Amino acid sequence: MAITEEKTVEEKNLSFVEQLVEQDLAEGKNAGRIQTRFPPEPNGYLHIGHAKAICMDFGVAEKYNGVCNLRFDDTNPTKENNEYVENILNDISWLGFKWGNIYYASDYFEKLWDFAVWMIQNGHAYIDEQTAEQIAEQKGTPTTPGVASPYRDRPVEESLKLFNKMNTPEAVEGSMVLRAKLDMANPNMHFRDPIIYRIIHTPHHRTGTKWHAYPMYDFAHGQSDFFEGVTHSICTLEFVPHRPLYDKFIDYLKEMRGETENLHDFRPRQIEFNRLNLTYTMMSKRKLLALVEEKFVSGWDDPRMPTLSGMRRRGYSPESVRKFIDSIGYTKFDALNDMALLEAAVREDLNKRALRVSAVLNPVKLVITNYPEGQTEEMEAINNPENEADGTHTITFSRNLWIERDDFMEDAPKKFFRMTPGKEVRLKNAYIVKCTGCTKDAEGNIVEIQAEYDPLSKSGLEGANRKVKGTLHWVSADHCHKAQVRVYDRLFCVENPSADERDFRELLNPESLKTIENCYVEDYAADCKPGQYLQFQRIGYFMADLDSTAENPVFNKTVGLKDAWAKQNK
Ligand code: ATP
Ligand code: MG
Repeated sequence: MAITEEKTVEEKNLSFVEQLVEQDLAEGKNAGRIQTRFPPEPNGYLHIGHAKAICMDFGVAEKYNGVCNLRFDDTNPTKENNEYVENILNDISWLGFKWGNIYYASDYFEKLWDFAVWMIQNGHAYIDEQTAEQIAEQKGTPTTPGVASPYRDRPVEESLKLFNKMNTPEAVEGSMVLRAKLDMANPNMHFRDPIIYRIIHTPHHRTGTKWHAYPMYDFAHGQSDFFEGVTHSICTLEFVPHRPLYDKFIDYLKEMRGETENLHDFRPRQIEFNRLNLTYTMMSKRKLLALVEEKFVSGWDDPRMPTLSGMRRRGYSPESVRKFIDSIGYTKFDALNDMALLEAAVREDLNKRALRVSAVLNPVKLVITNYPEGQTEEMEAINNPENEADGTHTITFSRNLWIERDDFMEDAPKKFFRMTPGKEVRLKNAYIVKCTGCTKDAEGNIVEIQAEYDPLSKSGLEGANRKVKGTLHWVSADHCHKAQVRVYDRLFCVENPSADERDFRELLNPESLKTIENCYVEDYAADCKPGQYLQFQRIGYFMADLDSTAENPVFNKTVGLKDAWAKQNK
């Protein structure tokens, strides 16, 4: 006998957005159809905040057998271009999402124009010839009503004529705007005759010089949702006060089309969730653009940027970004999430993915004095202990090696289990060696360390696993590449730069990029291309940078093996 049980909301562990979607489905709204959209304005690159919106928009569509389309909200030609469009597409694909269609708000300029004309003809809109300052002054405050524009009751014919004039090359930018005629006393400021069209002469990235009058966000966004058949228009909390206006314009659109309202009529529904804010960075595209233009960073994809392209270049995996977003969840309250949480997600994911290689960032020479000059051996190195299927590669052992300077101490305390005269350590994947001494230059700097190896202690050999406390990484001096390594720190010095009164430029961390020259990486790693996740053993996760060449390899430090920051701040 089959037992069917309805799971409760708690049992299903649904986000509040999913709960609302399920409620709509249960009520039979929109004939059970689910359609969402991700609506970026192509005026910058996507950042991790956008990834949160993307995971929601695409996630809901996937979960409820719906479709998520892309819509570029391109209603302000002064800030938008195709380079941004291309990069947005690339970043969404990288995250692993597939869109249905690609739409543009500019696809609807004609329809929006017709709607605006209808608004004027029906007494719902008028041309205001006041300046932006005058209009702003008359807006009032949330507790005091606004003042009506002297043009508010001008004849329909006059507004129609002027609206047409707005869309000509002769129209002067700022000389007039089209305003919806709503309610100058409404406690919701967005209802106080919002501007819905303005004059812009900058050519548009898609429509060129065809248009001179452009719709404002509030007169394009909801309408685009409506034209496309979006059922759930999911966005961030700052749009809560816009929602009544969103619904009002949909009412007018339906009225224009003669659609009668009944429960099962199509109507997009706006749902808002909290924005992602992360410590030590910021999400404002305007400010990120300033960092790029003023050359505080090398570009939108600088590995210190909170952009998806920056994170990709730095070596973050898309899976780790998605896991992080999933772990923080969606709420109705804005918060500040700890960057350390994101880094922990990256570390956890890369542990499963990264190819283990050897690199020495602060090298000092180690000579194995009893190993014959000119002799070499290929040692087997496991690519990833977390995943046997990743196999092995070989690393060449020889008499002359590089090890980390920090791994040697001449007078070491008892607990120092690395290299010090008279003590044994294992060289990873190779032999146990006993340090016999070191050579110094005239200033007393150590220039070379000597050790003897035990030929019977080769890794993997029977009886070779006698206990030594320390295992060190190394590379063979004749079988490695010199490389540059870029180590990153927080982009900003303060936890919440967006909430700081000082100019954000003053809050930048001057030590956010440290470039280390003359590192040595084993040959196998030097050949790795950007996109290959690497772990430099005992150091951290790394990825070849886009600047890397065969002659001059460059690696980005993605994240350390442990959270160095947690310790520092204690
Ligand atoms: P700007 O910084 O230019 O005001 P924006 O960051 O809002 O713009 P859009 O391109 O308009 O960028 O955003 C596209 C979508 O991404 C919107 O639905 C927006 O709500 C969402 N979004 C933007 N920033 C965040 C964020 N920090 N967290 C979650 N969602 C975000
Ligand atoms: Mg926006």
